[in-house]
Amino acid sequence: MTVKGDKKTKIIKTINIDVDKCNGCRACEVICSSVHAAPKFSSNNPARSRIRIIRDPFRDIYVPVLAGEYTVAECAGRDKYVIDGKEYDECSFCRASCPSREEFKEPDSGLPLKCDMCEGEEGGPMCVKWCLVEALVYEEREVEVEEEDRPEDLEIGLESLVNRYGLQSLIDSVSRMANK
Ligand code: SF4
Ligand code: SF4
Repeated sequence: MTVKGDKKTKIIKTINIDVDKCNGCRACEVICSSVHAAPKFSSNNPARSRIRIIRDPFRDIYVPVLAGEYTVAECAGRDKYVIDGKEYDECSFCRASCPSREEFKEPDSGLPLKCDMCEGEEGGPMCVKWCLVEALVYEEREVEVEEEDRPEDLEIGLESLVNRYGLQSLIDSVSRMANK
């Protein structure tokens, strides 16, 4: 967060996704898993990627989805969407690491994965750089904010992870992240 005069601002980072341009090549999954491997670039495994392509080649459906928040509970119902004559499940657009799907879970530990916008990576988000058809476009904008981030939000999130995976698993994961 930045303070300008009496106004607080922060940068909102967005990856705009054009579903019509995505051809399902999965280069974004490869580079994301590779850049987040420990050590960096030591392996690539799309199952560890923080972007996944929801694919249905027979219906020409490729939907890039970036990993968002972890959730303890799955939804009670599902909606269907029809866009340009193609039918999509609600889950196709969902960013959650959720008990009812395989995406966005670290395959060995089962811990949730979340896109970090390649924080600290020179040149910005790697999935955007590797998408040759510009299905992914990065955008930054500065917005005014009213409130500081609340530490209690972090505590609620950590508590739910401890309940789900146990304290030791969480400590191991944080220590792996710190060593990257
Ligand atoms: S790199 Fe681009 S075109 Fe390829 S799967 Fe990812 S978003 Fe789609
Ligand atoms: S911005 Fe970085 S962390 Fe997020 S999905 Fe793309 S490559 Fe992965």
